Amino acid sequence: MAERSLEAERNDALLTWYRATARPFPWRSMRDPYAILVSEVMLQQTQADRVVPYFERFMTEFPTPRALADAPLTRVLELWSGLGYNSRAKRLRDAAAVVATDGWPDDVDGLMQLPGVGPYTAKAIASFAFGASVAAVDTNLRRVLSRWHGEELKPAALQAVAERNLGPDAAQWNQAMMDLGARICRPRAPHCDRCPVEQWCAGPGAYVPPRPQGRFEGSARQLRGAIIRHLVARPATFAALVESTGFDAGHVEEALYDLRTEGLVEPDGDRWVIAE
Ligand code: SF4
Repeated sequence: MAERSLEAERNDALLTWYRATARPFPWRSMRDPYAILVSEVMLQQTQADRVVPYFERFMTEFPTPRALADAPLTRVLELWSGLGYNSRAKRLRDAAAVVATDGWPDDVDGLMQLPGVGPYTAKAIASFAFGASVAAVDTNLRRVLSRWHGEELKPAALQAVAERNLGPDAAQWNQAMMDLGARICRPRAPHCDRCPVEQWCAGPGAYVPPRPQGRFEGSARQLRGAIIRHLVARPATFAALVESTGFDAGHVEEALYDLRTEGLVEPDGDRWVIAE
């Protein structure tokens, strides 16, 4: 009998573990590219457990790209409130508008032309919705693969290593790797003692990722979120935004400039409002 490769043995162990323990997130049973796009954009900066209620509300109110494309931005941001990084919601609506008019691109390069869709999201949609045989590489996958490999994988080598390890069912392999990275192969405290692929791994010392971004309290991100929450509830003057956010006028001015550049807010007379 032919010897099985290390990659095939490791994938068997990975997928056996995944099938026994997979978390039943609603988007996992869906093949609709729009549902996959919505879930992937929400998951970009937010833990999966927290995304579930947002995803369900969003899909109930905007079940199709056309429904989202036609929605007022204020309502989209209202449903997004709490997920943070509001420009994601705006870009998601922009992407829905393109799809509603032109239909879905049928390959990764085409998907990457959609607003807010980078290489990872494009590959996730291609694999989960369209059955493409591609590895969706994000920071979690980079960490896990680097540890398997025994050294930090630089971006140039990463995709090739991922494709070499990819199992025959790319969608399931991508989901399994995401779960392994999120639940077992954690950035700073990996659970190697209960890892299904420990015997085929060089260990966590091979790659320790950089520390995450700094404090949220007092950050530009906190200010941007506060402004959007205020304007979703009601329009406001500049002075009212300075008062309600508690930030100084210079920072509020900068944040408004950035939010306006991103198409999230706009002036209306002497007040600021959510853009159309
Ligand atoms: S053995 Fe440890 S470092 Fe290797 S994949 Fe599993 S959790 Fe990550």
